[in-house]
Amino acid sequence: MELINLIHKELPQIQCGRCDTPGCRQYAEAIAIGSPHDRCVPGGIETLEKLNKINAKSYKDVNYDYGPTIPSQKVKIVEEECIGCKKCISACPVDAITGGTNMMHSIIDDICTGCELCIEPCPVDCIEIIPLSEKEIALPRKDSQLFFDLKENLSIDNKRNKLKNFSDKNIEISNIVNEKIINRNIDKSSMIDQMQHEIIKSDLSKLHKFDDKEINSFLKKTK
Ligand code: SF4
Ligand code: SF4
Ligand code: SF4
Repeated sequence: MELINLIHKELPQIQCGRCDTPGCRQYAEAIAIGSPHDRCVPGGIETLEKLNKINAKSYKDVNYDYGPTIPSQKVKIVEEECIGCKKCISACPVDAITGGTNMMHSIIDDICTGCELCIEPCPVDCIEIIPLSEKEIALPRKDSQLFFDLKENLSIDNKRNKLKNFSDKNIEISNIVNEKIINRNIDKSSMIDQMQHEIIKSDLSKLHKFDDKEINSFLKKTK
C-alpha cells in the first residue's frame, strides 16, 4: 500500500486511461506489481523521472505508443448547441459534467482535468478545449482525484450489490428445489436443470433476453 501511494502521488491525476488502466490509482497499483512505469504519456518525462526514483527498474523515455499527450487544459460546452443527450456525462471519469435529459449541460470547472474523454462521444461536437496554464490546471486535477475515487468506489459497490442479489437469488431457488427434491423424491439432475433454467431466465435476462436455444447451449457448455 505504501508503494502504491508513493507512485500514485507522482501521477498527474488526469484520469484519462491512456495507460490502459481506468485511471491514475489503478495504474499505480499495476506498477506496484510489475507493470512498466513508462506509459503515462500525459505526465511526460517529468513524471517518468519521478517514477524512476521510486521503482527498481529505470526507463529512458516515455512509451509514446500510449499517447498522445494532454496539455494543460479544461473543456467547455457550447451550451446553445447542446442537445442534452447525456453521453458526455457517462464518459466523464470524475463527474465534472452536470445536466438532465434533453437539457443543456455544463462543465464543473473546479474538477475538469481536461482528459478529453467527453469530446468524442458528443454527437453534435459542441465540447471545446480551453488552454490553461500549468498553475491553473494543477488544483482541479488534484481535487478531481477525490471524485474519481468516489465514482470508482460507487461502481464497485454497485457491482458487489448486483453480485449479492444474484447469489441471494441462487440460494433462494436452490432452497425451493432442494425442498421439492426432499419432499417428493424427484430425479435430482432434472431438478438441477430446471433450477439452472430458472436462474438464467430470472436474473441474466435483465442483461440479455435468452431464448431456449441459447439456454440449452449454455447449459451444455457448463456441464
Ligand atoms: S494521467 Fe492518464 S495516463 Fe497518466 S496515469 Fe493517469 S490515467 Fe494513466
Ligand atoms: S468534463 Fe470532459 S475533459 Fe473534463 S474531466 Fe470530464 S470528461 Fe474529462
Ligand atoms: S454529449 Fe454533447 S450534446 Fe450530449 S449532453 Fe454532452 S455536450 Fe450536450
